[in-house]
Order: sequence, then C-alpha cells, then structure tokens
Amino acid sequence: MRASAYPLVDAEIAASLVLERTAFLGAETVPLIDCAGRVLAGGIVAAAPLPAFPSSAVDGYAVRAADGGKPLRVVGESAAGRPFERPLEPGTAIRILTGGVLPRGADCVVMMEDVKLSGDVVTVPGGLKPGQNFHAPGADLKAGEPVLPAGVQLGAAEIGLAAALGLAELSVGRRPRVALMSTGDELVEVGKEPGRGQIPDSNRWALLAALREAGAEVRLLGIGPDEPDALRRLVLDALGGADVLVTSGGVSVGTHDLIKPLLESLGDVHIGRVKLKPGKPFTFATIPGQPSPTPTLRASATRMGLTDRPLRGREKVAFGLPGFPVSSLVTFEVFVRPALRKMQGFAQLQRPTLPVRLGYAARASGDRTEYQRVTLRREGRELVAVSTGSQSSSRLMSLAGAHALVRIPPGDQGIDEGSIVEAIILSLP
Ligand code: AMP
Ligand code: MG
Repeated sequence: MRASAYPLVDAEIAASLVLERTAFLGAETVPLIDCAGRVLAGGIVAAAPLPAFPSSAVDGYAVRAADGGKPLRVVGESAAGRPFERPLEPGTAIRILTGGVLPRGADCVVMMEDVKLSGDVVTVPGGLKPGQNFHAPGADLKAGEPVLPAGVQLGAAEIGLAAALGLAELSVGRRPRVALMSTGDELVEVGKEPGRGQIPDSNRWALLAALREAGAEVRLLGIGPDEPDALRRLVLDALGGADVLVTSGGVSVGTHDLIKPLLESLGDVHIGRVKLKPGKPFTFATIPGQPSPTPTLRASATRMGLTDRPLRGREKVAFGLPGFPVSSLVTFEVFVRPALRKMQGFAQLQRPTLPVRLGYAARASGDRTEYQRVTLRREGRELVAVSTGSQSSSRLMSLAGAHALVRIPPGDQGIDEGSIVEAIILSLP
C-alpha cells in the first residue's frame, strides 16, 4: 500500500482508536521510596483507625472535664511516644505534650496557656467540655474507610497517607517501556557540528522529556537511517524489550519515508493519516509480541492456523510521529500521552481543560482540525488566550512557553475573537 492511500481519519476518532488498542500493562509492588509520580493500581482502605489512639493536639494538661475550675495535683507526664500508663484518678492531672496518648480516665486537654501552675498543683478553668484539644481515634480515618482510589497519581500527600497507615510498599501500574527512535539521514547528534544540509536531532530530546513526563521508561535507539533494512534491524532489536515504539520522521509520502512500510511488515497499521494540523502523517500500528520476520511467513502461518500461538505475545503499539518538531510534540499530546497513561492505569487520561476567551480570530487553514498553541493571561475573572505567533509546524517557538492548545474546527468558519472555547491546559500562567 502506498502511504498516501491511507484514509484521512478524523482526529477524535483516531484518538479513541488508539486508546481502544492500548491496554493496562499490569501492576507491580514498589517500595515507598520509588512511589512518587506512580499510579495507584488498587484502591487503599484504612485497615485501622487514624489516629490509632487518642492523641493530644496541644501541650497542656490531660484532665476530666468534670474537674474544671479545680486545683488538680499533677501526677505524671504523657509525652509523644512515652505514654502515662495508669488511669487518671479524679482530682488529678497529667502533663501532656502534643502527640502524647490521652490517659484512660481523661476526657479533655487544657492548653498550657490556660492554666495556673504552682508547684505540683495546676488550676484549670471551669466550663471544660469532653473531647477538647485531642484527636479521637479514627478522627482522621475510620477503619474500613476508603483512603485513595485506584488510578490516582501518587504525590507527597498520597504517599504520606500510605506511610501513616503503615504501608511500606504500594501496588502501582507498571511504567511503559518505550523504544524511541529518530529517523532521517539529515540528522546529527546534538552537540556535533552539522554539515551542510544537516540538522541536530532535536526531536529525540523533546520526545524523551515528553515521554518521561508521561511516566514512560525510555530506551534511546538514536538516529535510524533512511535505509529500509538497517532501519528494520534497529527496530526489531529494540522491540523485544519494549511495550511501545515511538519514532519521529519518515512518515510522509516522500521516497525516504520508510516507517509506514516497516510497520506494515511488522504488524497492522490502523491509522496512516489524520485530519489534524499539525500532524497529518501521524501513524499508529500494533505489532504482535513476537513479530514474524516477513509478511510471507506471517501469511503462511495464518494459512496453517498458527496466528495465535507463535506470533502473539503481548501486543505492542507503535507510534510513527511526523518529523516536524511541533507536529511530533502535538501528536504526542493528542495520541501518545493518553495511551501511556492508560497503560499505567491513570483514571484521568486527558489533560484538564478550562474555558478561555479567545483573544484573536482563529481560522483553521484547510480541512483539518487545527491545534493552535496559545499563552494565557488573566483578565479580571477570565483567562484570555493569545496566539504564540506563526503556527508553522517547524517553529518550536510556537510551543515553547505555550500554556494551552485550542482546537479550531476545519473550514472557513473558524472561531471569532472574544468567543469562549475549552482550552487544553499544558500549564497555567
Ligand atoms: P520527515 O517527516 O522525515 O519528512 O521530516 C519532516 C521534517 O522534520 C524535515 O524537515 C526533517 O528534517 C524534520 N525532522 C525530522 N526528524 C527530526 C528530528 N529528529 N529533529 C528535528 N527535526 C527533524
Ligand atoms: Mg525524514
């Protein structure tokens, strides 16, 4: 099949097709030290109440509320981690420190600032109420109460909660292993002096950053040549240890665009062109776990009824991103990032959106949905979107510092200046 023979798929349909073909990779148990940024695979329920014991909220005196207004003999101390083990007798008080266990018999704590102390006698104010100034067992969490649902990302507070419940390790979604390759004979390693007609391989570093932000473990394959056999060897070597292949370049219709034919020979190309600007040549394929060496062999295996056993393993997904730097990052945002999040078990696959007022008249150039890059500015209670300038797919300056993407429908209609649109938020000003 010639690359141009691929139907132009609507961008939204393409995005849901990618997600349909993407599966959760399974869970692994990870110690807390490595949990930051990971996705919880199973919900956490409190096995025991938190706090587990009545714990003083202040420094002061543990007393009976009924003893309010009386001078009380101080008979001991309950410091954090060093409880007073005997019950509190009527007419007595226990000096208590923040985090100390409220002794049996006591039902409230009086703050240090509110008492008069003379020798070992403390006079507390009258009108005390049971329950004052301490955290009752289960005040923060009751036993059996849901704590965190599956699918949330583990940040500082979530990890703190797990630790407070005594969980030393958590079940989290496995990170996708991604093999990343740039293609094109014009590319040189960044840092080397480009010869005439050569450019630095910038996509590798941009996509590496994007992949890591999305939670992937990345293996860098470097620069693949515009030569079918060498390219094939490089990809085949890498596929064994990868869940995902991401390439940039080599997907348009020029003679040196080898990615589509390569993916066709390894598996099934589901999407070869999308109605999206930038990003029309975006390509998506699935590859059986153990790819057969040639399409002929695959065909004969199918004839022999062997398709399922020897050729299947865990299916891999492959994304052929366009070479232009902005196209590769925008198609990453639209198609790859949600898929990587689904693989890890994120409940939330998409970026958040917010209504913003368009600060310019937006027109899509042509028959494709356009993802325009904008910065956002606060005006009163509103966010106003301003274009980042020329939206050329080679101009990374249109994406650097952009706060959001706005979707402009195809056709002459566009969206008028001053309209409210739902913007896909990358970061906030
Ligand atoms: P292609 O899709 O291979 O035809 O590439 C389209 C455009 O993107 C060409 O101008 C390439 O030079 C450029 N390009 C491709 N790969 C990269 C890369 N890794 N880094 C920067 N630019 C690239
Ligand atoms: Mg190329």
